Amino acid sequence: MIITRLTIIGVGLIGGSFALALRKAGVVGHIVGFDTNLDNLRHARDLGIVDEISQDVLSAVSGADVVFLSVPVCAIASVVQTISPALPAGCIVTDGGSVKADVVRTCDALMPRGCRFVGGHPIAGTEHSGAAAAFPGLFAGKRCVLTPGLTADEKSLETVTRLWAAAGADVCRMESGHHDRIFAEISHLPHAIAYTLVRAVGTADVEGENVLSYTAGGFRDFTRIASSDPAMWRDISLMNRDALLASIDGFSASLAELRRRIDSSDRDGLTEFFTTAKKFRDEIV
Ligand code: NAP
Repeated sequence: MIITRLTIIGVGLIGGSFALALRKAGVVGHIVGFDTNLDNLRHARDLGIVDEISQDVLSAVSGADVVFLSVPVCAIASVVQTISPALPAGCIVTDGGSVKADVVRTCDALMPRGCRFVGGHPIAGTEHSGAAAAFPGLFAGKRCVLTPGLTADEKSLETVTRLWAAAGADVCRMESGHHDRIFAEISHLPHAIAYTLVRAVGTADVEGENVLSYTAGGFRDFTRIASSDPAMWRDISLMNRDALLASIDGFSASLAELRRRIDSSDRDGLTEFFTTAKKFRDEIV
């Protein structure tokens, strides 16, 4: 057993999967769930994801050793502001949000004396949402990045690290701004491109044909992530605005370069372009 009492705020894909993984590993005594979506919360209880549900967020955090926030990134700070007066002494508050610098800065400032905030981001997910989509193996073999700020100490970091490790994740630590710049490139930009591609092709007019009716494996594989929750990606885009804009600018320059090489029938240039990309791709699979 690592902790006696865990509170999950936002019992959806990430929060629900974290609860299921920890329950399976037998490292948490009792799990309380809170969610503003009451149907989802009841569903989480009926599925056995949490032991108890609460419709009052202040009661939900009462007696918690750890509070895990898995709500939309733009809601994390306001939830912490609400629960802050009710946090028990020594409580660790941590989160699973996809953007970190703003969240860590704001939540650190909201921590009552003796409580610790440990920023976190599991690098795992699916295009589905809600408690019904949760499963215990979601984090197995995946990375989880912890982004400690001012209030995180070694003891709180160690506890959160042990919880994620029990959930099957490979834990590493990173400065929060560095995290946001890396994940703008590797996660937020690919989602932006997938949504843009489907939107562009979906509205393309080729002699009145419905172009999307011709999609096959390649298009579907490439655009799977464009089925993710649009509200989540709106919030991530706004929360990581500067880093994402820089990534989009870099990508636009690359696309413009490809266009230039096609336009000038630059055979060698195109071979070099595609070969370089294939080499990077081959290295990661
Ligand atoms: P999700 O499945 O939609 O679950 C979030 C739950 O929180 C929903 O039931 C939502 O209700 C509820 N909620 C919204 N605002 C709330 C509030 N203020 N207080 C309490 N509950 C609230 O979302 P998720 O995919 O688990 O994502 C949760 C977090 O994990 C996000 O910060 C996201 O950036 C991060 N994350 C997601 C992924 C992924 O692939 N999905 C991967 C890594 C990290 P409604 O349905 O009414 O909105």
